[in-house]
Amino acid sequence: MRPISRSALRPYVCPSCLSGLPGRRFASNSSHAPDIYDVVCVGGGPAGLGLVAALRASPATSKLRVALIESQDLQKARSWNLESHQFSNRVSSLTPSSVSFLQKIGAWDFLDTERVQKYQEMQVWDGETGSRISFDWTMESSPFEDLRTIATMTENANLVRALLSRIAASGDKNLSIFSNSTVSSIENGSDHPDGADLSAWPVLSISPTGSAQAPGSSKIAARLLVGADGINSPVRKFANISTEGWDYNRHGVVATLSLADPDPVPFPIGTRTAYQRFLPSLGGPIALLPLPNNHATLVWSTTPENAAYLKSLSPKAFIAMVNSAFRLSMTDLKYMIGMQRPATSTLEYEDPHESELIWRLQHTPQPSHIPPMTMGVQEDSVASFPLRFRHSSTYISPRVALVGDAAHVIHPLGGQGLNLGMGDVASLSSTIEYAINHGMDVGDLLTLERYTAERWATNVKIGGACDVLHKLYNVPGQGPVAWGRSLGLDIIDRLPFLKGLLMKNAEG
Ligand SMILES: Cc1cc2nc3c(=O)[nH]c(=O)nc-3n(C[C@H](O)[C@H](O)[C@H](O)COP(=O)(O)OP(=O)(O)OC[C@H]3O[C@@H](n4cnc5c(N)ncnc54)[C@H](O)[C@@H]3O)c2cc1C
Repeated sequence: MRPISRSALRPYVCPSCLSGLPGRRFASNSSHAPDIYDVVCVGGGPAGLGLVAALRASPATSKLRVALIESQDLQKARSWNLESHQFSNRVSSLTPSSVSFLQKIGAWDFLDTERVQKYQEMQVWDGETGSRISFDWTMESSPFEDLRTIATMTENANLVRALLSRIAASGDKNLSIFSNSTVSSIENGSDHPDGADLSAWPVLSISPTGSAQAPGSSKIAARLLVGADGINSPVRKFANISTEGWDYNRHGVVATLSLADPDPVPFPIGTRTAYQRFLPSLGGPIALLPLPNNHATLVWSTTPENAAYLKSLSPKAFIAMVNSAFRLSMTDLKYMIGMQRPATSTLEYEDPHESELIWRLQHTPQPSHIPPMTMGVQEDSVASFPLRFRHSSTYISPRVALVGDAAHVIHPLGGQGLNLGMGDVASLSSTIEYAINHGMDVGDLLTLERYTAERWATNVKIGGACDVLHKLYNVPGQGPVAWGRSLGLDIIDRLPFLKGLLMKNAEG
């Protein structure tokens, strides 16, 4: 915990009230006093923007003085645009509860919904043992009703642009956006003899990123400082909040793919499916999640060596490896991921990986639950990200709250990271709303307790479940662990009640 001076225990009187008190003057040396905000949010990723949009959307909190600081250029995010047949490689599956939160704060109206894709079915199976579990919401509704959604695939850039538009639509009164600006330091302020006692308040120094000019004051004080500043959160460091965690020594290889037409055509028409096959001997699962018009996004969790190998392949070889990963045995796959890459480019000719796949497919019986063949990979869309687990010991400290990846980072195999962030933002914004409606100080620990109580245990449970799944599905071979996990999957698959429970959890 960071040291807190006596003023943390003193009731807060806002500067404007102070200036109205007889015999008192506010900050005669105001040129040195920081500019004071009710809420300062560091980080303009989905979590930070989600929080600001939520505060601006609620009548109770819309009059708060809010600042958002983001080191990237938000103008680029506002003008993000791709052709309709192209998709960003950073895509998240938003659960229905995240979508309903985004609808409630009015952000969903600004999303380009032509670019999002719902799915109603999920096929998950073990590449080592073949045991499988399928999640199918279409069984729960009649073919004539709207199909029930497991999740909605949304490009992160589409979401960020929509949140920025929602914030812009709320006007700029009481709102300062410091784009292209980095928080260079955060420290407790000082007790201004003629003004506010800021000695327990975070005061941030903001400096322009690169050559950009940050508008307004370069020192700002926060009644409540929110860290939405990602895994290396400077706000978390300032608050002395410790984290536990580890690096998985795995990378998530992402790419945008185009698929063949599904055969047979899914029924009910319009049903879309997400696929995930666990590949224990290769370091993690491969997942293919649907995007509009027979496109899909790939997340393949694997060792850094395999990730480097996959990224070095020609498009043809990469496509062959993705198709192999959903169709071939583990032994075949291990052979193929060790194959020599051709010395010369084979753009026009059959790639060795491709020929190997065609030959091996003739000798491999195919189950019915595999995805349609991958036909293409979007240029420059293959990339990889290191996978890590982190969890903060708490999400709050006096005048500080953490949300999103600043508070927790989890394995992506459940597609839950951003959803947990949206859950945090929904909870923190309603905590702030409650405080305003009840005349409480939004930065007070007592106020913030409600937020951490609502979110911490939930996030531990989901992050922990993803971690256990990762570990369980990293034990290669047909030994007792493989036997136990396939028995588990088979049992769940045959127990509609338990399966329904899991599906409701996946919905969020
Ligand atoms: C391969 C992969 C697949 C994933 N798939 C899914 C999925 O399907 N579903 C899902 O829910 N989640 C998924 N996730 C997780 C999801 O992407 C993250 O949880 C989410 O993007 C985190 O958002 P955030 O706003 O909390 O943090 P970030 O997006 O990291 O934003 C933090 C922001 O803070 C800014 N910042 C940092 N330091 C400073 C500073 N000093 N000053 C100013 N600004 C600063 C940064 O520039 C950044 O914009 C996936 C993750 C990976 C790696």
